[in-house]
Parts: sequence; structure tokens; C-alpha cells
Amino acid sequence: MHRSRKQRYAVFLYVLFIGILALAGCQCHEAAVSVLDIEKLETESEQQVDDDPEENLFLISQVSTVSEDAGTSKMENSMQDYANKKLIALTFDDGPNLVTTPDVLDVLERYEIPGTFFLIGRNITDDTQPVLERMVADGCEIASHAWSHQQMNQLTAEEVIDEIQRTSDRIEALVGVRPVFFRPPYIAVNNTMYENIELPFICGTGCTDYDPAVTAQQRTETILRTAQDGGIILLHDFTGNSQTVEALDGIIEGLLEEGYLFVTVSDLFRYKGIDPNQEYVLWNNVLQQ
Ligand SMILES: [Zn+2]
Repeated sequence: MHRSRKQRYAVFLYVLFIGILALAGCQCHEAAVSVLDIEKLETESEQQVDDDPEENLFLISQVSTVSEDAGTSKMENSMQDYANKKLIALTFDDGPNLVTTPDVLDVLERYEIPGTFFLIGRNITDDTQPVLERMVADGCEIASHAWSHQQMNQLTAEEVIDEIQRTSDRIEALVGVRPVFFRPPYIAVNNTMYENIELPFICGTGCTDYDPAVTAQQRTETILRTAQDGGIILLHDFTGNSQTVEALDGIIEGLLEEGYLFVTVSDLFRYKGIDPNQEYVLWNNVLQQ
């Protein structure tokens, strides 16, 4: 992981600032440790790439056509920086894993933009914990894609609650953040789900990137053709989905040329001044519901 001198200087200033606060008696120990550990975590997670034969429980994630999630930008831009700008959120379903998820993070880091990752609970293990830590360190948002990637409209209320609870508990136990958005597997929803899941439901606009027959170029073209202000772009980082990794450069550069700023799903709602907590809503674009 290469950092520019400017980035290293910024990190140095931040660490110095935290140190001063700590000396002043503030309880900033956790924050200082997390910053100092960033380089270590990134190195560790990179070393584990291609080191995971067991990974990938869900090679095929079907019919999702929309997505979105929430997070906090590490660039700490003010609300003013985003006012009246075209904003869009890149989101990724079906991780984490040790192959394709780190590849996606590499691209996001290169452009210094955040993504939102809808994680499958049972993919979150001791092996993939460093990937989650890297997401947090990079300013990405972690959201919920439920525990076992079932058609949840076939489940009882108790099973629905368990799917969400277990996933949120595991994420919080490993990285200390609790998801605030949910994407239904297969975008399958019913009233039992709406009535028992407190998180806002996120869909989005995709490019059928779960289909191996759709090329990287086609994926890029579809996303650029359908992008809109306030939109949530739905992509997949399941193991082996290298065509989406390949498509990302074109997607990001094309949207930058059109003046878009990339934000997490949380920031997309926040900067647009939209409350995501609305009953029986499946969000595709924060400005269109
Ligand atoms: Zn999925």
C-alpha cells in the first residue's frame, strides 16, 4: 500500500492530534490505536489474498437489480462540499471474501473513494475479519445482507429476526460498528420482513453483474448509462467476480467525468437530507421515493 507524502503527513498530523488529546486526559486510546493499525491491517489483508480455498459460499447471487448502503467518508468533507453536487453510492453484495473483496478495496483506495459493502453474516469469520477492518479504515460502510442469503420472504418472523440479529451482532463484535442498512437477498421482500426488520431496505441499480456472460465493458456501459444523482449502484464482490473488478475503473472514471462525487449510502441520505427510515420502502435512489 503506497501512500503519498501528503497522505502520510495528514496521518502524522492526525496521530499527533490524537496524542495531544490523550495526554490531556481524553479517552482517545481506541482512536489512536485504530489509526496506527491501519497500515498493519492493510498489509495483513493483502497477504491473505488468494489464500482462501474455502471462501465463497455464494458464487451466484441472483436477481438483485438495485442496492445501496451507508458509511462515513474518511475524507471528512463538510456538508457544504456536497451541497448541490451529483452524488452516487457504489455498493457491493455477497462479501466478505479474501479474493475479490480485497481487489475491490484496492480499486476504491486507488481513487480514494468509499464503497458500501452488504455483507453475508456467515461469510464473516476470523479469516475475513481483517477485510472488515480494512473497510472501516478506508472509510467504507458495512451493511447487512442477512446471515445465510435465503429467500427471506419464505421465512417466519422469528427466522427473519434471527437472520438480521446474528449478522449485526457478528459485525459489531468484530469491528465495533452496527449496520444501519439492509439489502434483501434476491431483493425478495414481504410484509413479514418489513414489519420485523428495523433497518431501511436498500435496492439499487445494477448491471446483472452476477451473470458471467455479461462482460466488464457491458457492465461499465450499463452503469454509466443508468446513473442518476442520488442513485445507489448495485454490484457484487463474490469470489471470482473479476469482471466487476475490471469494470470498476471505467465506472469510476466515467462518473467522475460526469461530475459525480462518491459517497457511502449513509452519506447519500445525509447529504441529500432524506430520512431513510420510512415504512415499506425499498430504496433505489434516495431522491425518487
Ligand atoms: Zn446477494
